[in-house]
Amino acid sequence: MAEHYDLMVIGGGSGGLSVAERATGYGARCALIEAGRLGGTCVNVGCVPKKVMWYAAHLAHTLDDAAGYGFRLDYFGFDWRKLKDARDTFVQNINEWYLGYLAKAKVDLLNGFGRFIDAHTLDVNGERYTADHIVIATGGRPQVPELPGAEFGMTSDGFFALPSCPPRTAIVGSGYIAVELAGMLQALGSEVTLLLRKDQVLRSFDALLREQLMERLREDGVTVLTQTQVRAVARLANGALSLHCEGQASTLPVDALIWAIGRDPNTDALNLAATGVLVNPNGSIPTDPFQNTSVSGVYAIGDVTQNFHLTPVAIAAGRRLADRLFGGQPERRLVYENIPTVVFSHPPIGTVGLTEEEARQQFGSAVQIYQTQFRPMYHAFTHRQPRTAMKLVCVGPEEKIVGCHIIGEGADEMLQGFAVAVRMGATKRDFDDTVAIHPTSAEELVTMR
Ligand code: FAD
Ligand code: NDP
Repeated sequence: MAEHYDLMVIGGGSGGLSVAERATGYGARCALIEAGRLGGTCVNVGCVPKKVMWYAAHLAHTLDDAAGYGFRLDYFGFDWRKLKDARDTFVQNINEWYLGYLAKAKVDLLNGFGRFIDAHTLDVNGERYTADHIVIATGGRPQVPELPGAEFGMTSDGFFALPSCPPRTAIVGSGYIAVELAGMLQALGSEVTLLLRKDQVLRSFDALLREQLMERLREDGVTVLTQTQVRAVARLANGALSLHCEGQASTLPVDALIWAIGRDPNTDALNLAATGVLVNPNGSIPTDPFQNTSVSGVYAIGDVTQNFHLTPVAIAAGRRLADRLFGGQPERRLVYENIPTVVFSHPPIGTVGLTEEEARQQFGSAVQIYQTQFRPMYHAFTHRQPRTAMKLVCVGPEEKIVGCHIIGEGADEMLQGFAVAVRMGATKRDFDDTVAIHPTSAEELVTMR
């Protein structure tokens, strides 16, 4: 007879681990199926190794800035291999830590690929298991375009496998991954060309952030080509790649090409047809606000759904789902509003709430904007002069803050606290009545006129 669980979770990434751990905490009998390495995208080929590379790039900028503060440094370059090895070990330690985490939480780990037999039965490595509740938390994978020679390029997964820094890198795309990798590679010594098929990066972000980031990328030496689409890629005799682009007269020679054009949900191999779970045309799984799919007892969380594709979102959705199913909290759910997010560009972006454009569409003339731009004090002594820019989007006579957008040094660490305030419904007056912390960049957010 098939082994039976209260809950089975497919996918051991941010979302899957969180729902399983929380559910066993309530006494549910739970199994988690993982085909690859525990921790999923975030730990293995996402947030964690990315942030390590961001720190390295940040250090490269800091070393550059040090002369302005009187430091005379002998600089012997950067050892990519050494950092990669240390980073890989760091990630492996997290993988192992998760083994202990699951054991401690008393979650059964099934190493293998999960496929549906029906809405309450799964196949893993030829064994059948049944469950009252099944959570799909299978995440996504990077897209590669269909064009001649596309296979010569890599995705963000390939970036993390690079043994050395490519002298010249082309990055195709305009989203989080494209701008983050562009900033890191340029700071660590690659000559980066960013190819945008339209005119701007981060299309869904506030215009202030988009424009400022384009300027910063160019100031840091990234070549940003707009209205440029790669049509074919060829491998040259010397091993380099040649990109043939619509919108450019000549071909672009590079040593590495990275596709950063979005991610596809991992649903195609799940045999969802056997369950009746509806799937969107792009393969993602639609859910109601409680993470229910179209079939009772089957749920979806994280990147496999249509919602914000961020680690804390997957975790929050997973924990709340477990609270609802096993914790006696029938109304518990994640509210997908005012979700703060940081882009680890150079400098970073922190943003929460509505963009000015979204607010004007919703609230028309009731919108009031406060914004500022300044050179942070740190850069008074450096030859790099990146500016910081901030915008508050307010609505109504009480000037409720519905959007807070920051680009500049420290924006990544600044945003979390402001996100709490925005979520609690803070007004401009609340910000103004908060005593500033001086001298910081963050104080500008509570002193804007
Ligand atoms: P995943 O973490 O992708 O986990 C899914 C797991 O399911 C995988 O381990 C996979 O092996 C497994 N799986 C799939 N199918 C099956 C199957 N049939 N059977 C068994 N196992 C299966 N987010 C942030 O918040 N901050 C960041 O700084 C950030 N940086 C990022 C950088 C990069 C380069 C990338 C690619 C993403 C980044 N993200 C970041 C996004 C974040 O990584 C994802 O939102 C998050 O990992 C989603 O979690 P998940 O549980 O939905 O899916
Ligand atoms: P994104 O969805 O952020 O951006 C991809 C963009 O690439 C599209 O919006 C589109 O922009 C452009 N694009 C799409 N197809 C093509 C094409 N064929 N040629 C050229 N450009 C194209 O995807 P990413 O892959 O950057 O990241 C996936 C997700 O992972 C993010 O949305 C985010 O949720 C998460 N992530 C989060 C991070 C963080 O929290 N710091 C970091 C990294 C990833 P346009 O239409 O304007 O051309």
